[in-house]
Amino acid sequence: MSDCIFCKIIEKELPSDMLYEDDDLVVFRDINPQAPVHILFVPKKHIAMPVDVKKEDEAVLGKIFRIAAEMAEKEGVADNYRILVNNGAKAGQEVFHLHIHLLGGRDKVVPM
Ligand code: 5GP
Ligand code: ZN
Repeated sequence: MSDCIFCKIIEKELPSDMLYEDDDLVVFRDINPQAPVHILFVPKKHIAMPVDVKKEDEAVLGKIFRIAAEMAEKEGVADNYRILVNNGAKAGQEVFHLHIHLLGGRDKVVPM
């Protein structure tokens, strides 16, 4: 999508602190971290939001949980991270290209 900020990061038209890339997804640091480790997992396919997920997207979403566990290990937060996804502006979604937040290393659990 030409006006999508995350598509532009995927296409390297915009810079990012990219940590991982394969054929299906990219992983980069959030520009405005809400935890000591705040990483975004972004399918390369432009899916606007969780409610738009189709059967063909199941594989990449499962893969993201596995890669997230690997990244949490690398970042030293394997025993202390949360995974969060916002669906819709009312839920706090600001970028309408599906992404999974990994928030790690916070001292104490905060209410959802
Ligand atoms: P949402 O609120 O849509 O679930 O999360 C969007 C996230 O993307 C926010 O945490 C925000 O800080 C992050 N973000 C927005 N624009 C950029 C950007 O250009 N680069 C990076 N690395 N993160 C961004
Ligand atoms: Zn996009």
